[in-house]
Amino acid sequence: FKVPAIDNEPMKTYAPGSAERQALIATIAEMEQQLPFEVPCIVNGKEIKTGNVAKQPMPHDHARHLCTYHEADEATVAAAIDGALAAKEAWENMQWNDRAAIFLKAADLVSGKYRHKLLAATILGQGKNVWQAEIDSAAELADFFRFGVKFVEELYAQQPSKNSAGAWNRVEYRPLEGFVLAVSPFNFTAIGGNLPGTPALVGNVVVWKPSPAATYSNYLVYQILAEAGLPAGVIQFVPGPPAEVVAQAINHRAFAALHFTGSTFIFRKLWKDIAQNLEKYRGYPRIVGETGGKNFHVIHKSAEVRNAVLQTVRGAFEYQGQKCSACSRVYVAASVWKGGFKQQLLEEVAKIRVGPPQDWTNFMGPVIGRPAYDKILGYVQKARDAGNEILIGGTGDDSKGYFIQPTVILSTDPKSVTFVDEIFGPVISVYVYEDDDFEKTLDLIDETTEYALTGAIFSSDRSALIAASKRLRNAAGNVYYNEKCTGAVVGQQPFGGARASGTNDKAGSVSIFYRFVSARSIKENF
Ligand code: GLU
Repeated sequence: FKVPAIDNEPMKTYAPGSAERQALIATIAEMEQQLPFEVPCIVNGKEIKTGNVAKQPMPHDHARHLCTYHEADEATVAAAIDGALAAKEAWENMQWNDRAAIFLKAADLVSGKYRHKLLAATILGQGKNVWQAEIDSAAELADFFRFGVKFVEELYAQQPSKNSAGAWNRVEYRPLEGFVLAVSPFNFTAIGGNLPGTPALVGNVVVWKPSPAATYSNYLVYQILAEAGLPAGVIQFVPGPPAEVVAQAINHRAFAALHFTGSTFIFRKLWKDIAQNLEKYRGYPRIVGETGGKNFHVIHKSAEVRNAVLQTVRGAFEYQGQKCSACSRVYVAASVWKGGFKQQLLEEVAKIRVGPPQDWTNFMGPVIGRPAYDKILGYVQKARDAGNEILIGGTGDDSKGYFIQPTVILSTDPKSVTFVDEIFGPVISVYVYEDDDFEKTLDLIDETTEYALTGAIFSSDRSALIAASKRLRNAAGNVYYNEKCTGAVVGQQPFGGARASGTNDKAGSVSIFYRFVSARSIKENF
């Protein structure tokens, strides 16, 4: 059989007065009336209520919570691992087209029946505005499932190009021996689906620990997969005290892989913990992670100013800068800065409305929680203390929700801390370089931080694009010319970075599927 042609999920616009807007408004209102929801662990398809109850507060209104959830205890995690291993044989022996059909159906449920519910959960729980939620929990999630099927077909088609005389060579792509641990972040509901989904598509069983701050939307993703026919036990949904759940999983002999998106700090810690356990495991675990970023926009003197400004505003402030890919350091040629960039940037930022995400006029919503709020404003204070100028923003209001104004820092010291550390909030640091110092600035960009996730180069001069692209070859896994550094599309821009930003296995492409199979070469003599 052949998988039919796959296309990216079209995005809805929710135009004023449209039926889709009315329907979404009704879904959000209904969810607000019904909350808080109760979320269990799901092990072997059964709900487990451990009684260790935690809350997922709504970041725009922290006194209220979207759900309470039952944290997995030791017995639940043990049952999840055992149950996954018990489900493994049937799942890996299921015909590939049957596994594929489950994910294609799940994609249809995402784009149809559950679309507005997923959006509402992402808006209320993770603080995304409607369009940011649409990109994520509708379009990208459906894309991960649909394209995933296509990528697996592509993977399985890879075979030796040469046969021996009188024999037949072939390669079988076995699932890993053991279980995969998926640890997903709060900032994309789609990544919540992708981290367990990718290994499962190639026949693995997965223990999935979602982010506490995305519990409810991720629970809906689990329910969608179950409704699409995912057999019990193949993906075990175990929200829980993160450190404990993860430690128990990586201490297990059958631990075979980690599929992680989150902070560099935690990823490094887990890598070290896994290394400590190597003798315990049957094999060498696969470690696949996408972590932090300190993503740049570099504006050459030949840049088209209006485009560079608008792309920078979007790249930096959409979803409050809480994308690993968000623009957080901007290097602008002096003539462009003075020639309109500064003025237009400040005008555009001044127009940004910050407030509850379900109010359609707000471009920015809250940041995810108290630690994020304190950390982000702490960096702004550090910038002030170091004598940098805060051109706009720099303030917050946490009385009801965790709101921070979009912030632009201007610095004459391009090595100061806000150019180096990941802040993960609506803050950019700007450095203005002399037009003739473009090459020196490229060196600076490359050498300032340990991250290398995304970046963008703005220029209408092909030779400047080439020079920057060449000099910054290792400074970003995703580079954009005259376009913001966020918003990679599944099947179009495979996503991931190297250096401290991750293992660069490229989500949204066939590459990442190779990490979750262990190939077997077979030669049959005739
Ligand atoms: N893929 C997303 C983008 O290109 C970012 C994902 C992330 O934040 O981890 O904007």
